[in-house]
Amino acid sequence: MRILVAEDSKVYRHLITKCLKEWEFNYVVAEDGPAALELLESAWNPTLAILDWVLPGISGLELCQRIRARGQNEQYVYTIVLTAKNQRDDLLAAMEAGADDYLPKPFDPLELKARLLAGRRIVLLQRELIATRESLRFAATHDSLTGLLSRGEVISVLRCEIARGRREQRPVGIVLADLDHFKRINDTFGHSAGDMVLQETTRRFRAGLREYDGVGRYGGEEFLFVLPGCDLTTTIHRADAIRHLIEKDAMVMPQDNLTATASMGVTVADFQSDASMETLLERADRALYRAKKNGRNRVEYCEMSSLAECRR
Ligand code: GH3
Ligand code: MG
Ligand code: MG
Ligand code: MG
Repeated sequence: MRILVAEDSKVYRHLITKCLKEWEFNYVVAEDGPAALELLESAWNPTLAILDWVLPGISGLELCQRIRARGQNEQYVYTIVLTAKNQRDDLLAAMEAGADDYLPKPFDPLELKARLLAGRRIVLLQRELIATRESLRFAATHDSLTGLLSRGEVISVLRCEIARGRREQRPVGIVLADLDHFKRINDTFGHSAGDMVLQETTRRFRAGLREYDGVGRYGGEEFLFVLPGCDLTTTIHRADAIRHLIEKDAMVMPQDNLTATASMGVTVADFQSDASMETLLERADRALYRAKKNGRNRVEYCEMSSLAECRR
């Protein structure tokens, strides 16, 4: 736990830090409001703040309000307001400003310790909740076998990128990839070997993609790539490079090494066209179908002009 102490009185600073040192807490000290704010926003990222109410520059209450105004994604900062004010309505004002706890001055060190321990429990609990929420979020948006985006998620990435491409006048490359004769791999080597092939394929995809490309598991052994900024020629080249990464080296399996290949259908969302996402996916699918028909382990494309005659 990282504690920020914001206190302008030298005497209280000494008292508080003496206690914190003795109880082996990790802390930093600010002597006024702006310094406290800077520390709150710094990489040191305090998890608990002991804030004096009356501080030069920015009051402890205002600091509380600023902490609470931060986004929900930020780590929670547990706040204890420490003050010589001890009217009942002061307490309410502090809590309304977002303080979690309140300690009147002069304070009993043991009482401060008790409050710090309660604060630590809350901070740890909140950290666990965030970790759980993030893992649920990941599970909801990713495929569990490959760790790639789920079908729904990659489709929404595609939708966003098409809109962004139109706004920024940039094309978006779209690739549908499907493993060849995957059923045969399952039948010959078993379903769990098939799973490993899907995982190894995913690793090879990643090697051929940039950080801002989208890739998701579109179906069983079908994948969708979203390549922002790539025109048709570039998308075909990149798809072919990825196709090559799949076939190039045998995949190492427990029983036997095996070579997998993939067929790919390419199209591009041109920013001047208003083709719907469904139409674009249909084009990519049609191109993929042609790749299968023309012998597999190859890339075919379908241009925006015509669905009927998709040529390589
Ligand atoms: P093609 O070259 O025409 O694509 O032939 P294919 O055998 O790859 O295509 P098909 O659609 O007939 O078979 C796909 C197979 O993928 C069938 C299904 O059992 C298998 N499959 C789908 N999801 C998974 C999975 O998560 N793990 C494993 N091991 N197999 C899967
Ligand atoms: Mg003060
Ligand atoms: Mg297949
Ligand atoms: Mg398939």
